[in-house]
Amino acid sequence: MQPIVKELVFATHNPNKLAEVNSMLPPGFSLCSLESIGCTEAIPETATTLEGNARLKARYVRDRYGIDCFADDTGLEVEALGGAPGVYSARYAGEGARAADNIDRLLRELQGKENRKARFRTVIALAQGDQCLFFEGIVDGQILKQPRGSEGFGYDPVFLPDGNALSFAEMPLPDKNSIGHRGKAFRALYAYLKELQD
Ligand code: IMP
Repeated sequence: MQPIVKELVFATHNPNKLAEVNSMLPPGFSLCSLESIGCTEAIPETATTLEGNARLKARYVRDRYGIDCFADDTGLEVEALGGAPGVYSARYAGEGARAADNIDRLLRELQGKENRKARFRTVIALAQGDQCLFFEGIVDGQILKQPRGSEGFGYDPVFLPDGNALSFAEMPLPDKNSIGHRGKAFRALYAYLKELQD
């Protein structure tokens, strides 16, 4: 008898994220892209928390297309800035801001501040039938005074993870994934999915 393969949608229009996540799914699951189910529209991300946005995206697909779906949302939370930029990380320096502009604003806001503690937090929402489950990944660190390194994206050049000498933008991607927020959140999701199969 053929094993039952469960279809899941990952609510992202980013093909790189989709390929990365697909390669790590436990056996018994197959991942569909938004395009392959006919969802080509932009999904609203209007919530004021990471949990809210992840949930909005996952439920949007589950409720309209009838396939179980997960979605992620990530933010950089800086202690001395009361958790900002948080859910607004992508547009900290304004709508459509480049990563370099966001970093400039962050370094300006932290000028003269001793406390440079920060964390990246990823939240994944899994919409399964009527329920929604959450998985979280956090990495703690410090905001550097100057950008360092050219790997990665976003705020990577100014984030120094605790216990490391290299910024996220100075380390190879596998190293970042093994200690990083997104890797942790996805490993938690996979552990749950794997349990469903056992
Ligand atoms: P998203 O939810 O993955 O689209 O992330 C939202 C924003 O957070 C991005 O546009 C980046 O500015 C920032 N961000 C998310 N993940 C990372 C990361 O791993 N390194 C640096 N910046 C990130």
